[in-house]
Amino acid sequence: MSGTKPSIQYRTTDGLASIMARANTHDKDINKSSYQILIIDDNINLLYSTQALVEANGYRCIIADGGEAGLNVLNRMAIDIVLLDLSMPEIDGYAVLKHIHDQKIDTDVIVVSGESTFDNAATVFKSGALDFLSKPYKSSQLLSTIDNVAYKRGLKINLKATQNQLEESEQRYRFIVSYSPDIIYMIDHRGFFTFINDRVTDLLGYKPDELVGEHFSTLVHEDDLMIAEHIFNERRTGDRSSHNVEFRLKSTDPEVLSKPFESSSIVIELCSMGVYENKADGTPYLGTYGVARDISDRKKDQEMIHFQAYHDLLTRLPNRELFLDRLNLSINQAERKKAMLAVLFLDMDGFKFINDSLGHVIGDSLLQRVALRLQETLRDTDTISRIGGDEFSILIPELQNREEAGLVSQKILDAFSKPIILDNHEITISFSIGISMFPDDASCTEELIKNSDMAMYHIKGRGKNGFEYFSDHMQSIYQYRHTIEQDIRKALDNDQFEAYYQPQYNINTQEITGLEALIRWNHPDKGLITPDHFIPVAEEIGLICEIGRYMLDTGCKQLKSWIDQGIEPLKLSINVSAFQLAESNFDVVICDLTKKYKLPPHLLMVEITETSLMQDMEQVIPRLKNLVKCNIGICIDDFGVGYSSLSYLQILPIDILKVDRSFLSCITENHEKACIIKAIVAMARELELDVIVEGVETQQQLNYIKNIGCSIVQGFLLGRPLPESEVRKLLK
Ligand code: C2E
Ligand code: CA
Ligand code: CA
Repeated sequence: MSGTKPSIQYRTTDGLASIMARANTHDKDINKSSYQILIIDDNINLLYSTQALVEANGYRCIIADGGEAGLNVLNRMAIDIVLLDLSMPEIDGYAVLKHIHDQKIDTDVIVVSGESTFDNAATVFKSGALDFLSKPYKSSQLLSTIDNVAYKRGLKINLKATQNQLEESEQRYRFIVSYSPDIIYMIDHRGFFTFINDRVTDLLGYKPDELVGEHFSTLVHEDDLMIAEHIFNERRTGDRSSHNVEFRLKSTDPEVLSKPFESSSIVIELCSMGVYENKADGTPYLGTYGVARDISDRKKDQEMIHFQAYHDLLTRLPNRELFLDRLNLSINQAERKKAMLAVLFLDMDGFKFINDSLGHVIGDSLLQRVALRLQETLRDTDTISRIGGDEFSILIPELQNREEAGLVSQKILDAFSKPIILDNHEITISFSIGISMFPDDASCTEELIKNSDMAMYHIKGRGKNGFEYFSDHMQSIYQYRHTIEQDIRKALDNDQFEAYYQPQYNINTQEITGLEALIRWNHPDKGLITPDHFIPVAEEIGLICEIGRYMLDTGCKQLKSWIDQGIEPLKLSINVSAFQLAESNFDVVICDLTKKYKLPPHLLMVEITETSLMQDMEQVIPRLKNLVKCNIGICIDDFGVGYSSLSYLQILPIDILKVDRSFLSCITENHEKACIIKAIVAMARELELDVIVEGVETQQQLNYIKNIGCSIVQGFLLGRPLPESEVRKLLK
């Protein structure tokens, strides 16, 4: 194909080529095929020939053979240009023009008319026509007129589109600025607001109008003025132009005195921002614009995080970090003022037991109440800190003498003499308090705390509920205890514990009636250790239950082994700690053991001290009753030194009362105290309970016991606790 178009014949005055050439005035600017032209004329011949001409020239074209047909088209479709004959029957060109005007039809009209008088033309233009062509005309005239009108129309359309775009983008910009979550502002070179968006009203309460013309300092918090001035005055450009600075802005709301804002300010230059042009003083710098973001929430979060980092969340007391910080400061001050200060280490007595038996929820509430009571008792200048589970450190700054620290400690102990009532539980707590003084006992924070801790351990070992000043000799005791703690863990793993057995005799028949299992520790370095040296520590560090289970299992296994060897069956007593009693499955564990070793359960006896029984009677009694159901015996150990109320003797299914040996020591000197044993024996007889007197060391004591009618006795005089191999010989 050569690419030549099929030729079309037109009935026109000029040849097609020349018409095209002449009509090319604005060819490069007009996309002719996008224009829809409508020719309205009652002369049919002219109508067709003009259509052919216009189409040949690249326009789209339709025709209407009169006014009415023309109006129909105009009402129906979009027409860019109308070639309109004026004189037509019925609806003439004027009527069509009026219709276009009245209906606001967007089209450009070229009037074609035989009557080309000036009046005529003027009327036509007034009616809204864009051009006028008098008949007869040359084809080239017609085409250049159409091109002209099309070109103008094109310009008009482009302009409109550009305007629309501008309007849209301005609307977008306004929307963004008005609805911005940040404050957007402009400040002139003297520091006065030239613009600020509506956001300022929500955030600070001012109307933008109130602020425009005001100096920025009216908004900035007094303390932050220096920073703000520096930011707004320093003419930063390039890399330094965008910069985040934090300062506070004033609010009209008295509740929110000032809000912290992070302002990113950018310096602007005249050349880039025409609006700010001011050549009068020759400086291009005209002001600052920027965005200020409300970061109050972030600040609050930061404060919260800071609080959490330095406080115990349960009690809201300062934590160890903050305590160390305050202690450091106080040491410096005390040094300067040549004053003393005290660090108190408080450990709650028996908290672990409360927590285990009453549950963690009550344990937590108790700690909160304790924290409150401590705060009420002490001065605001003292720092109370919770540094561990039930451990508190207290800093008492600026003391005149050592005795003052003791007075404060006593005040704390007194404050806790009243019980704390939680969830219907009346909980009486006490503290062991260790005191260490600056500068006498130590000069640095860590050492002061360590020494107070040591002093606390010392008072704990000596009966709790009291305070003790640090002294140098505690160092070795502390270290001993610390090593023991680690050694106990190893001992359990390495099987270093062993059961010894002490016989109980019926002094009337001289027969062994039972045995008490007593734990011994074969320490690899320290040799044989008796329980007084490690049981309290094991209770403190939570290993007593494991040790207790070991003793129960060993005892039961041993008893079974003796029976299997044909040794006459004896009662075996095993000591049980308060912590074991607090375990919910305590009864089940023991009953299961008798089944495991196929033991007659009545041979087994658990020894419980009065005090451990009283810790949480409501929970413990049902478990003990279960033991009795299993036929296992219960013996109250150390009877007479623990609890003052004896009513439990009626509630509990007890078999034996074991009189504490402290009552015996007085038999030689003080007969009045010895009478207590007599009274206990009488009472036991009334209640139909058996009595064992333990700790009998002398013949005198034995005689006394015999005289008051008590028959079962345990003591060094008759037999010491022995290892299994030796007790076996005794039994045979
Ligand atoms: P306890 O239950 O009151 O045991 C009697 C203690 O008195 C034993 O001390 C025993 O050796 C000692 N004793 C017996 N006769 C005499 C005497 O005539 N004179 C003197 N001075 N003492 C005598 P031990 O074995 O050192 O036990 C001390 C405490 O350790 C026990 O007191 C008991 O509370 C506890 N304990 C011993 N074994 C266990 C155990 O397996 N579990 C638990 N939880 N505690 C145990
Ligand atoms: Ca005992
Ligand atoms: Ca005892």
